[in-house]
Amino acid sequence: MAVKILRGEEIAEKKAENLHGIIERSGLEPSLKLIQIGDNEAASIYARAKIRRGKKIGIAVDLEKYDDISMKDLLKRIDDLAKDPQINGIMIENPLPKGFDYYEIVRNIPYYKDVDALSPYNQGLIALNREFLVPATPRAVIDIMDYYGYHENTVTIVNRSPVVGRPLSMMLLNRNYTVSVCHSKTKDIGSMTRSSKIVVVAVGRPGFLNREMVTPGSVVIDVGINYVNDKVVGDANFEDLSEYVEAITPVPGGVGPITATNILENVVKAAEFQKNNL
Ligand code: NAP
Repeated sequence: MAVKILRGEEIAEKKAENLHGIIERSGLEPSLKLIQIGDNEAASIYARAKIRRGKKIGIAVDLEKYDDISMKDLLKRIDDLAKDPQINGIMIENPLPKGFDYYEIVRNIPYYKDVDALSPYNQGLIALNREFLVPATPRAVIDIMDYYGYHENTVTIVNRSPVVGRPLSMMLLNRNYTVSVCHSKTKDIGSMTRSSKIVVVAVGRPGFLNREMVTPGSVVIDVGINYVNDKVVGDANFEDLSEYVEAITPVPGGVGPITATNILENVVKAAEFQKNNL
């Protein structure tokens, strides 16, 4: 049977159309403030993607850039934005320059404006199965599973970070998947990945997931982003696995295209919440 390539662009397009419809029907005027400190290229690319997609959907996305800023001034700025009724979402672009603790900073964003959804309150709601705003990357993984019809399956995630593996494991439990989580200290990861229908890999090592770690019935969702000779590749050996497994996401073109739209989905949810509750 031919391998299924699980592409993300179409999912992102459909989600964007749906958001555009919600904005038109509701009369909301959602707005997102991005704060970038320093000049990291990956952070700039991700910020530009949100501005571009925001324009298409009808969300005002504004990038506020600092070469440098003291923690005191940054927290004061966040406090002003938190109180500003014109601003529905606040997002701190990653990676930050050395000396800034992302998780300390996001604690100061009210949970209903925390569209990255990585503050303790939003992560806590996920753990309690009371999801409100959810992080973009785990949401994109679930969007792919939903769209291609892999429901309530067994999943092994190779990643335990707060951005990917931790929230994803909880979000999958909330949806009746059966979940295993592996990391760098896990012994014999292959025995775990081979025994699950779905493998989510987000390690940050090109070629990490190979034929020995999967079966012909595996569905591989590759979250990894690596730069090899100026080319973007994932963590799975795509050339090899795409001739072996049941289904696999490409990199680029799988999880990545959905994530920027998922931030904007959070902005719309945040704007609806603020309209009805503040
Ligand atoms: P991270 O915080 O460095 O986490 C990496 C995870 O991989 C950790 O849990 C680590 O284990 C595990 N790991 C590392 N080496 C391993 C090994 N040899 N065997 C098993 N596990 C290993 O990175 P992250 O922020 O979660 O991102 C992970 C990857 O996803 C990166 O390539 C990143 O660029 C990509 N990413 C993509 C998107 C997207 O939108 N597509 C979004 C976010 C991240 P320990 O916990 O034991 O260290």
